[in-house]
Amino acid sequence: MAYKNEKASKFAYQTIIKDKSVQEFLKQCYIPEIDELKKINFKKISKDLEDLENVYENEINKILVIDGGYQVIDISKNRFEIMKIAFYSCGIMSFDYNLLLDLNEQQTVNPNEINNIKTLYKQNFTLPVQLISLKGYSFIDSIRKSIYDIFAQKSLFYNNGEIDKDSIFIDTIKWLAFEEYLEGKGTLNVNCPVCDTEIKFEKKNNDYKNKNDVLRCKKCYENGNNTIVYITDIFGFHLKIEDNNSETIVSLLLNIFEVIMLFTSYRVIIEKKDIKAMAKFLFIKDGSLAIYDFHHKDTFVSLKIIPFLSFLFKKSIEDKKNYLSIVGIEKSGYFYSHLQKIKNMLKDKTVLIPDNDYIQKNITFENKIMGKYTNFGIKMFYHHSKGFSYVMQFPFPTLLKNKPMYEYEKFLKKPNIKYFINLKNIIEILTETKSSKYEGGIIPIILVNKQVSVSRNPGYKMLKEFTKEELFKD
Ligand SMILES: [Zn+2]
Repeated sequence: MAYKNEKASKFAYQTIIKDKSVQEFLKQCYIPEIDELKKINFKKISKDLEDLENVYENEINKILVIDGGYQVIDISKNRFEIMKIAFYSCGIMSFDYNLLLDLNEQQTVNPNEINNIKTLYKQNFTLPVQLISLKGYSFIDSIRKSIYDIFAQKSLFYNNGEIDKDSIFIDTIKWLAFEEYLEGKGTLNVNCPVCDTEIKFEKKNNDYKNKNDVLRCKKCYENGNNTIVYITDIFGFHLKIEDNNSETIVSLLLNIFEVIMLFTSYRVIIEKKDIKAMAKFLFIKDGSLAIYDFHHKDTFVSLKIIPFLSFLFKKSIEDKKNYLSIVGIEKSGYFYSHLQKIKNMLKDKTVLIPDNDYIQKNITFENKIMGKYTNFGIKMFYHHSKGFSYVMQFPFPTLLKNKPMYEYEKFLKKPNIKYFINLKNIIEILTETKSSKYEGGIIPIILVNKQVSVSRNPGYKMLKEFTKEELFKD
């Protein structure tokens, strides 16, 4: 609460400062110091890029970059009636690798000049954040339905402005859920948001794309309720909504959308071409390789994404090609700030994969395995030279056998650099496309970012006026 009387607030500060218990508490607090980090033998735990070996031949000739942005717009009429809505913009841009190498910094300024080396596919969507609901739906149901609709009504590509039936996002969720890349026998249990009964989603007809993504809860129906359960409820967003406010899930939805975009590319390439074509692509995702959802363990990542990556890893070994060329680049968070502290202690052109002990002791200060059930990649640091250090995340590379969760956990605790196929190759591609203008910037990411960032000015004002006009017209 703000008080006008400044003297009173100064007095309050003074009593806090003089309070013995506060002083005692602060004495016990500890900020991990750089000095502590200096004791670490980085030479011993990091690897020279030069010493890494690519497992298979480099076939990458296309780079696909995925990035998105959002803006929450406040259209409240007064301070007692807070109304908010989020606008998203997500894109995937394809670059010809050889042409990208020719690109210099100057060309990033003029987008017209780079048109010949890139193709952009962009999706826009909205999510109610506060007070605004869909007609006939409660707030929570509006959120669940909006999220389902976003995935059901958007596709990776567009044909003359129309949805492309072969690249609809909901089909990718089903493709992964039913394990369509294998025999299509997978199932996915989703809890009913009302009575918590497990609802089993499975393929009930020959074409997995046909229906199978919306079910009615039988138990609710017997009790006179018509509860519709969406396959997208697996992400558990509704579990995190309080007081008709979805602000906590706004950024998480963006991340899930980006992840599904990534795997839709995989699905389309595998379905339309052949899995062998995957070896030609490198995917760069701005941000982490993770889906943060609100279940304790049975998450979409642990149940469906990790097994898919294991399938890709197995295929890579069989075909002697790399089908796991995905990299997440992080520019914020615990790992990023840790990198800022240690980058000057790292030798040029070295990779450091922190294991669980290192992470708990120096990065998260938490006594639990970082990213369990949410991450499908392993985080690592790469220090190229002064000004060029990255937090990168590469997909989890291991064969899941009899105890998939055990093996997943084991690898998360102690990742082994030798299993990352062509790590050297991918890092070299990233450094070849680094920006000399923006510290730590990678040119293809910068280009996509420009296309999808919903800037505050003047974008915010325009979106606000547009929303008001649409919502308040009678
Ligand atoms: Zn139910």
